[in-house]
Amino acid sequence: MKNLAFETQVVHAAQQPDELTGSLNTPIYQTATYSLKSLLENGMTAENIAKTYTYSRTSNPTNDILQEKIATLAGAQDCVVTSSGLGAISSIFATFLRPGDHILVADVIYGSTQTLIDDYYKQMGIQVDYVNTSNLDLVKKAIKMNTKIIYTESPANPNMKITDIAACAKIAHEYNAILVVDSTFSPFPIQFPNKLGADICVYSTTKYINGHGNALGGAITGKSDLIKEIKNKGVKIYCATPASPFNSWLTLNGIRTIDLRMKKHSEVALEVAKFLETSPYVEKVFYPGLESFEGHEIAKKQMNGLYGGMLAFEIKDGINGMTKLEFCQNLLLCFDLITVAASLGEMESLIEHPALMTHRALSTEDRLKVGITDGLLRTSIGIENPKDLIADFTAAFEKAKNM
Ligand SMILES: *Cc1c(COP(=O)(O)O)cnc(C)c1O
Repeated sequence: MKNLAFETQVVHAAQQPDELTGSLNTPIYQTATYSLKSLLENGMTAENIAKTYTYSRTSNPTNDILQEKIATLAGAQDCVVTSSGLGAISSIFATFLRPGDHILVADVIYGSTQTLIDDYYKQMGIQVDYVNTSNLDLVKKAIKMNTKIIYTESPANPNMKITDIAACAKIAHEYNAILVVDSTFSPFPIQFPNKLGADICVYSTTKYINGHGNALGGAITGKSDLIKEIKNKGVKIYCATPASPFNSWLTLNGIRTIDLRMKKHSEVALEVAKFLETSPYVEKVFYPGLESFEGHEIAKKQMNGLYGGMLAFEIKDGINGMTKLEFCQNLLLCFDLITVAASLGEMESLIEHPALMTHRALSTEDRLKVGITDGLLRTSIGIENPKDLIADFTAAFEKAKNM
């Protein structure tokens, strides 16, 4: 099915009627183990073992179908799905990092990924340097002979900072390092990091890929040899993070509308971003689709003309005599439609305060250094009518000012 358009692949890739029963929906193989009788009959050769299901921590048919689907949609050779996005990231690090190795990490990343690196890998003898990966000169200066991985997010959580993926891949490959990109904020059909040169791309499928907010999951895509290694080491043994077949089944349901959803998220978020840009309460809007946004030119090049549903904005200081933090705390209590919640990528709009919520584990100094101020709010714009969202923002700003 290689020559089909993306919209067609989204519906059909990896999902044919079940051979045994004709079931149109993919069955959930909710089983831990499998009968090995046929393996005994056919002979326990390495080849037979490799193609036989033995135990669901190693492989499971429902997970396999989701893997094939995601690999196809991502334009990657192979994929492995995991129990969560962070489980996927842990499995990559556990597979490739050893004491004495160096990892170069983007200075703005998902909060728990940073905690994983600082609280675990740093303690285990991995050298860690944080760098602004959107500045390629800094990346070139910071990379070392023992750099095993360059790790980045684009757009980055929470301030949407854009990194030039193709250029970073080039730098990584000059040093024999692996470029890993967390593309959770911009899944297909917006961004295809593997096609841009990233060796490994990682997603929290919990977010846009499932899109329905009903299952945790992660996915890793990339070249077959790397994915095979992650599958056999990180996912199967070191971290033991296999996906649950039921969650994979829910994700298979959700993924079929990802093309429709990402186009709609992008359309609605652009409207909201334009509105916020003109709001007297807002100092600055961080959305890759805005021409005023610092990373817009690179985003235009690598995001396929769509900019997704994630946006952040900075509140003005001193509104009605309030500090940024006071105003934000009031504001979060004032929305009717938009929900205060830490996740993202769902059909309903969500808002959160990174300094108080998703990035609270960072020290004040560390978060201020990368622009996570007391006035920064992050929103995941859903697929509602933008007029209703703008009305909710307008009313909430007014109400918060008078609290
Ligand atoms: C949510 C998220 C993760 C972690 O995924 P889980 O499924 O919650 O484990 C990693 N990276 C980014 C950018 C995320 O938004």
